Amino acid sequence: MKPRFFWKTMDRKEKNRLKKYLLVQRDLGFDELYLPESTRPGVKMTAKRLNIGDFEKSESLDQLDATINRCKRCDLAKSRTKFVFGVGNPQADIMFIGEAPGRDEDLQGVPFVGRAGKLLDKMLTEIGIRREDVYIANILKCRPPDNRDPLPGEVEKCEPYLIKQIRIMQPKAICCLGRIAAQTILKTTMTLGAMRGRWFDYHGIKFMVTYHPAAILRSNSYMPSAMADLKTLVEVALPHGGKTK
Ligand code: SF4
Repeated sequence: MKPRFFWKTMDRKEKNRLKKYLLVQRDLGFDELYLPESTRPGVKMTAKRLNIGDFEKSESLDQLDATINRCKRCDLAKSRTKFVFGVGNPQADIMFIGEAPGRDEDLQGVPFVGRAGKLLDKMLTEIGIRREDVYIANILKCRPPDNRDPLPGEVEKCEPYLIKQIRIMQPKAICCLGRIAAQTILKTTMTLGAMRGRWFDYHGIKFMVTYHPAAILRSNSYMPSAMADLKTLVEVALPHGGKTK
């Protein structure tokens, strides 16, 4: 590959777009650039061929996923097995947010698939919702080692992806699962008890907090309160019983 060759074939507009793209990739933590196999010296390298554009320009969740799924912006990229973008209906009115992938999620690349995920599915079924009707994502897209809490620097680098997911989806309501995720998102030290039963605003979307299914697995005494929270969520997000937009 001869980068200088491509540079010579580009006009000024393409060079500027390429420069911008490379700066974004550097900020994302990439230290190498993937070029498609079809790219050969002699083929004009256009900005479009390089998929130029930052993640903020993504117009769909698939586009966003494709743009960020090789992210190396923080050290979690080194230890992850799979990048965990999110799962569910891209047009869902309800979005669930957890803090970060766990072991099962890291292995499968899908959020909430372990025991806690199965419990969440069961709780959704009890309020008449299928997992496919909602969207589920985490603040961090890569697993912290030993399931430790997200570090502030990791959140700072990864949360913009979550915010972009929300801006694309525009759900009617978000339900945050667990104290750590809620404190991280709301930038607060409030207890879970103080956060539950209230509506907050997160980037223009109604935002509520309930127990993490893992906490309910540890103590089933949280279940009635969690189910009451989910019923409130459905009443607000799906007032006419509809499941999606
Ligand atoms: S956790 Fe987020 S910021 Fe860190 S490498 Fe993964 S996707 Fe990138």
